[in-house]
This record gives sequence, structure tokens and C-alpha cells, in this order.
Amino acid sequence: MDYLPVFLRLKHQRVVVVGGGAVAARKASALLKAGAQVTVIAPAVHPQLAEQAARGELRHIAATFSSGHLTEAVAVIGATDDAAVNRAVSDAAQERRIPVNVVDDASLSSFIFPAIIDRSPVLVAVSSAGQAPVLARRVRAQIEALLPARLGALARFMGERRRAVQRALGAVARRRFWERIVSGPVAARVLAGDQSGAAHAFGRELLTSQVTAARATGGSGLGEVYLIGAGPGDPDLLTLRALQLLQQADVILYDRLVSPQVLERARRDAELIFVGKTLGEPGQQERIHELLLRHARAGKRVARLKGGDPFVFGRGGEELEALAAHDIPCTVVPGITAALGAAAAAMLPLTHRRFAHSVTFVNGHQGEGGAAPDWRFCADPQHTVVFYMGLTSLPEIVARLRAAGAGRDHPAAVIAHATLPGQQVVRGTLADILARAHARQLAPPALLITGNAAAFAATADVCGFTAAAGTPALAAGALA
Ligand code: SAH
Repeated sequence: MDYLPVFLRLKHQRVVVVGGGAVAARKASALLKAGAQVTVIAPAVHPQLAEQAARGELRHIAATFSSGHLTEAVAVIGATDDAAVNRAVSDAAQERRIPVNVVDDASLSSFIFPAIIDRSPVLVAVSSAGQAPVLARRVRAQIEALLPARLGALARFMGERRRAVQRALGAVARRRFWERIVSGPVAARVLAGDQSGAAHAFGRELLTSQVTAARATGGSGLGEVYLIGAGPGDPDLLTLRALQLLQQADVILYDRLVSPQVLERARRDAELIFVGKTLGEPGQQERIHELLLRHARAGKRVARLKGGDPFVFGRGGEELEALAAHDIPCTVVPGITAALGAAAAAMLPLTHRRFAHSVTFVNGHQGEGGAAPDWRFCADPQHTVVFYMGLTSLPEIVARLRAAGAGRDHPAAVIAHATLPGQQVVRGTLADILARAHARQLAPPALLITGNAAAFAATADVCGFTAAAGTPALAAGALA
């Protein structure tokens, strides 16, 4: 980080704004909102500043800047359109070791103003460290849209009741109680403006929690498990529910395929446990079941985070069985499976009214249990087949498809690290996909997609594919 985001208490503190234009007026307003004692130094000022000075909200000194103006100031803002004055402000401030911000000039500043989302007392500050202010404002707009307007009221509602809850509940019960409040009907009422209804519901919730906490003797009640699909890797492809539960989980068991970027979105103080297994490692699945049961029985909320979707080659079903056998409550959150992530990333529609009528997901690793696919069916170019875990068995898969009747020019594509920074897409046919994949030195995780879908190109002139005999040509004209 180039800057540490902090929130500064400025109440009754002297802050100097040098400059009297519209920009200075904006900065002065922000400072006044935070309760600062603002002094504006400028020979002449914007009407808004003049009015604020007349009302006694700020002080205006009609002068050109000199370093003496910084006496007793805790911060200073250079907001003139005169580069020499701004530099003088910056120099004087740095000499006195006072934090300084020069508008639009990070090199002269020791602090910067973030874009602010104000739901006081909830504040969100966004910064691009001065590199892309427009982007920071865009992010602010997106967060603005996400946060309910009455969020501040909810924070105050909770703040007013903190003491009472602290007296009533122990630490573990307290955290859960607050989580139930923010995600339940109490918060919904506050956000809808129904304060008295919310207060009533709150009282009932607190009473219930006291009773349950007493029964649970020290918070060792039954926990729960969230079986969560983490998607193919890009954290933006997590579902909103996955994100919410990742924020609640006390313990997170994650796989090799879960990207570090996804883990970044988990609760900061959650216990992260890596349970990745290399193919076929004996006993590891049982160890995972044991861990799930142990943590859930200790009253923890356990997130079991899996790459892609938990129910697609993810052994989610087995974990569900293990939990059900011990009556542990479980929630399943679907994820974007690798086939869908890869298809979108490589722009290959898995079905298409003209070229591909159906799609099958196949486990391409023969050693990983499961019956062999129907190769004749897979050899039909109108049928899209996505082979998971197929990179090492690529030569065998190609041979099997050929033997089952697929032509040399049957389209094939390999997509490695789909949706991740190192994503690679290799396209070809059964005749050359091996050589092409080899030449690019692809590393797992990777998928093989076969069938017309693998040759799809949305723009006619990019489509260099000649269809296998007997299939409708994926010709430029057909695609246009
Ligand atoms: N449950 C997962 C699949 C686990 S099996 C899901 O729904 O996606 C592991 C296989 O998934 C890998 O061998 C690879 O074939 C595929 N895979 C997972 N992530 C991938 C990615 N980002 N890019 C390409 N293939 C991926």
C-alpha cells in the first residue's frame, strides 16, 4: 500500500485551506462536516466561502499565504491554481511536519482525499492513490448503489444497544446475535424506517438469544457447514451468497483450486485450513469429513470452499452425506463450474441452435473412478463435450474420440487457468490439438472442449474452421 487509510478526528482542530475558489470551497465544506475549525487564506473568496465566513462557520484571512498561517494547524490544504503558491504551502507544511494535501498533486501531498461514501457513522473511503481518480469515483458509485440509504440509522441503532447486549450475552453468543440482527428482520425494519417495530423485534431477539445461550452452556452448540462453490478462479465470479457466507464463516476449508484472490474475500480473522489433495491421495477425503464434523461440533460456522461448483466433480455429494449422517446442518451454494467459466472466457457457446445441440461434462481422468463415457456419442461434433481433469490424458482422449468416429478436423480447444491472470486458450482440431497444447506448455488446471462449439467465432472472418464431413459447415456465411 502506498497510503494507509485512516479516519481523522478533526473536531475543534484548526485546519488551514489555502485558496478561495470552488475547489477550496468544496474542501472547506468537507472539513466543516467533520467539525474542523477551518481557516481560509486567500486574497478573495468564492461567494459560498464568503457566506460561511459571514455566518461565523469558518474564518477568512484576506491575505496571500505565508508560513506563519500554519501556526497551530493540524493539517493544511493547498487549493490554489498557482503552482508556486501550492509548492510554498507544501514546503511550509513539510517543514513543520503538518500533513498537507495539494489538490490534484500527489507529489506535493503527504495525504490524499479519498472519494467518500457517507452513511455516518458508516464511512467508506475509496482511493486510487491519485493514479485514477475517475476509477475511484466509479467504484464509489458502485458501492453507493450497494449500500442501503438508512445504513447510518442502522449503525446508530446498533450502537445505542451495544452496552445492553454486552451485559446480556457472552462473546461467542454476542457475535452471532449481531449477525442475526444485521441479516434479519430487525435490520430490515430499521432500513425500512420502522424504528419502533425494529426496537420491539430487537427486544424479542435478545431475550431468545439469552435463553439459547444459557442452554448451550458456553457456546458449544451445534455449528453448521456451508458447502460453497468458489467458481473458476476470478473472485468477481463468486456469487453474492458465497461472499456473504465467507464473511460469516469462523473456519474455511479450501481446495487447491481455490484461488488466493478468492481467499482474500474471506473474513479477515477466519481460520483458513488448506485441504487440497493431489489426485487419488488415499484417506484425504475422510480427513476432510473429520475436520468438517469436528469444527461444526465445536459450534463453528464452517465454510467448505471448493473450486467451481461443489456438485460438479467436487465430491460435494460425499461431504453432504457425511454431514447428514451426523445431523450437521448444511447449506449448499452453487458456483460457476470450470466449464462455464472457461466457455465464457474463451467465448465458446457450449450450445448453439445451429452447431451444438447438447453438452456433457466428462471426467477426463480415467483413474478418478466413474465409468468411461459413451465415446460414440462424444464423437458427434454437434455434441459439445467438456473434459475435466483431462490434460494428462489428452493423448488418450483424442485417440478414443478418433476411434469412435470423430474426424481429424473435429474441433477441439484447451483452456488453461480459465478466468485467472495466466489464462491460455488453444484452439485446433483432433489432428493438431496435442501438438498445439504441447507447444504452449499448458499447465493444469485445464479443460478440453470438443465439438463444433470449440471452433466457434462470433465474427465471420475469424472463423477458420472447416467442418467434419457430414456436419453442417461452420462457415463464415453461417455465422454471419
Ligand atoms: N468442482 C470443480 C471441478 C473440480 S475437478 C468445478 O466445478 O469446476 C478439477 C478440474 O476442473 C481441473 O482438472 C480442470 O479440468 C477443471 N478446472 C478447474 N478450474 C479450472 C480453471 N480455472 N481453468 C480450467 N480448468 C479448470
